[in-house]
Amino acid sequence: MLSQKTKSAFSKIVGSERFHDDLATLSSHSYDSYSTGGRADAVVFPKSTVEISKLLEIANQEAVPVTTRGAGTNLSGGSVPINGGLVLCLTQMNRILKIAPKDRYAVAQPGVVNEELQIALGKNGFFFPPDPSSYTVSTIGGNIAENAGGPRCLKYGVTSDYVLGLEAVLASGKIVRLGSANVKDVTGYRPAGIFCGSEGTLGIITEATLKIIPIPKAKRTAMLVYQNLNDTAQTVADIIGEGILPAAMELMDNGIINLIEDYMNIGLPRTAEGVLLIDLDGMPEMVQKEMELVERIGWQNKAIQISLAKNSQECDELWKGRRAVYGLLNKVSPTVLVEDATVPVSKVPDMIRGCRKIAEEFRLKISIVGHAGDGNLHPSINTDARDKEKMQRVDLAVRKIFSLALDLGGCLSGEHGIGLGKKAFLPMALGDDTIDFLKMLKRSVDPLNILNPGKFV
Ligand SMILES: Cc1cc2nc3c(=O)[nH]c(=O)nc-3n(C[C@H](O)[C@H](O)[C@H](O)COP(=O)(O)OP(=O)(O)OC[C@H]3O[C@@H](n4cnc5c(N)ncnc54)[C@H](O)[C@@H]3O)c2cc1C
Repeated sequence: MLSQKTKSAFSKIVGSERFHDDLATLSSHSYDSYSTGGRADAVVFPKSTVEISKLLEIANQEAVPVTTRGAGTNLSGGSVPINGGLVLCLTQMNRILKIAPKDRYAVAQPGVVNEELQIALGKNGFFFPPDPSSYTVSTIGGNIAENAGGPRCLKYGVTSDYVLGLEAVLASGKIVRLGSANVKDVTGYRPAGIFCGSEGTLGIITEATLKIIPIPKAKRTAMLVYQNLNDTAQTVADIIGEGILPAAMELMDNGIINLIEDYMNIGLPRTAEGVLLIDLDGMPEMVQKEMELVERIGWQNKAIQISLAKNSQECDELWKGRRAVYGLLNKVSPTVLVEDATVPVSKVPDMIRGCRKIAEEFRLKISIVGHAGDGNLHPSINTDARDKEKMQRVDLAVRKIFSLALDLGGCLSGEHGIGLGKKAFLPMALGDDTIDFLKMLKRSVDPLNILNPGKFV
């Protein structure tokens, strides 16, 4: 519990209209897309780095837990204030400060929504490749702190590949500038990189300098439908083996196909075991040639249906089902757990088959959607958090899913982070010495452990 004196000190920094301790605001800023649990004692909406610095100075003196929050969409429990304390909600630091197309960078405050940045960059013929499906609401600060990915990351990489520089406030209140606006800068360590995926545990990101790239001249989409999962996986391997690197290569399993048909009826065969959605981008002649190859590989591997989009409207049409997946999963049950197990691409079929066995063993509904080209799969479990017996089965199934991913040479997260959700699995993934190293890093910048305590480190 925060003392009235500490609350007043916080309120004085941001002003009473941006300080809240009423139940409605505390509750609505104490959950994320993974969980609830714990409640903030105060929520503030800072508008500047200096305000954040002053808030942290006091929080550090008084050992107040601080949980930073963007849009609260993360899927691992990162923005839940499990120990109470102060929530710093950065949605009002939402200005795009600079777009420099010639020097290929943009500068944004952390509360800028990913889509708003894309729109602004698009007007200049550029884009910022990280494209989480939550891009219409999630913030640049949240994208960096979770090291978010998305379908396009197969070709273009995740958020950390685009962070050139950061301004951040450390637990002490000190303001640091890490990296620069240069596309090439190897001045010593790369501390801006450490903040990618730090989930609010190392400092508060208050400004980001991001690498941007020109929008490709052409883009085309294909949808390939398979009766058999092995043929689907073989197609993925053959396309990559042919030297084609699609901008996106998404896979949906039979559970997802039927989910889409139940609610959208777009004409996918219900018995099909796999659908691939493939985006190619680049120069028009190259995209045309590569698409012909993709089509040929598709038929060679016994596709039962191939649809090719001729224009951007038809591309959007093919993506309609995939884009709707998370919304549809939420229609089926009160609780949905979207997991994020990642395996080497060659192990994707083993992972999918393994998840099916786990679903049978624990009598659960597990459907799989994922980024097939980079092995990042999202086994999604429909359940009900109020049903204790079922949740015990879910917990066991989730542990088994991650053990399987690790056994197959994979990792705990391809893009959703660790937070609370996968904290318990870290020892089996990293080992004690590596975890100790992470803890040493954390202690060196936040000795009192005020920044997002109780999360993965
Ligand atoms: C429907 C849906 C689809 C999704 N699809 C994808 C997807 O395709 N790919 C993907 O990667 N993720 C996806 N996500 C997860 C989520 O949207 C991302 O993790 C996103 O980056 C979170 O951004 P946010 O603004 O909501 O951050 P929040 O959820 O508010 O915060 C995320 C973490 O970052 C920390 N944080 C936030 N801002 C800062 C800051 N300025 N400084 C320091 N720490 C900070 C928080 O403390 C927390 O630990 C999806 C989520 C939903 C609900």
